[in-house]
Amino acid sequence: MTGLPPPYPGRPWRATPLLKLTYALHAGAAGLAVLQPDVWPWLVGALAGNHLALTATGLWPRSQGLGPNWVRLPEAAARANRIAVTIDDGPDPDVTPRVLDLLDRHGARATFFCIGEKATHHADLCREIVRRGHAVENHSQNHYKHFSLLGPRGMAREIEAGQDTLAGITGRRPQFFRPTAGLRNPFLEPVLARHGLHLATWTRRGYDTRNRDADDVSARLTRNLAAGDILLLHDGNAARTARGVPVILEALPRLLDAAAAAGLNSVTLNSTLDSAPS
Ligand SMILES: [Zn+2]
Repeated sequence: MTGLPPPYPGRPWRATPLLKLTYALHAGAAGLAVLQPDVWPWLVGALAGNHLALTATGLWPRSQGLGPNWVRLPEAAARANRIAVTIDDGPDPDVTPRVLDLLDRHGARATFFCIGEKATHHADLCREIVRRGHAVENHSQNHYKHFSLLGPRGMAREIEAGQDTLAGITGRRPQFFRPTAGLRNPFLEPVLARHGLHLATWTRRGYDTRNRDADDVSARLTRNLAAGDILLLHDGNAARTARGVPVILEALPRLLDAAAAAGLNSVTLNSTLDSAPS
């Protein structure tokens, strides 16, 4: 493709303690199995336990066990009373324009984790998000439910296609990636590192794709609301209240009111990158 902004330089990938343990365990098990064949049932048990730990860590969106993961803003941004509202699964032609109006009314900035395939169909809306002062980041090309089961090549394809699609539409390459439902496996971090991307999940979420109760969603998001929080809502795949209103449209104003009352400002994730330790 031509005319796209160039890819970011990669950042170094470092194995986490859990991954180092995994490699050591596998190497040790291979050696022992050759030298002491009678211990192999124990080795199988140890390896199975290790794989269970890896899987559990990948199923825990806020974990740092598989690599760096933004669950809060950098300390300097928190000290400046910043929070980050992040909005996933759009753009949605019905909901996103109304979300943009709400954000304008509150003078708030948000980060939209867009799905590449949806962005292709609503490219003008994607550009409108940026024009109104918000950021568009990468939520994969197709938002596969089985994203966390993909191997390194499958993950790379989904992430690269998302980067190219969104950069082609907005003219800016995303700097953050969020996997479907925050779920991942050990293959993800090396791919993100190669593309200079940061994994971002959240401090708190409202479960607003299945929770139809906007009171409950906003209560979950505003409970213990504090500087540095990263909050998750959805403009795409939004649940509807009993009256048929997308939940985000009722929950977001309450979140922004609570933030204003606490003296907190919502900013984009990428605006806080300068203050992040490298
Ligand atoms: Zn999603």
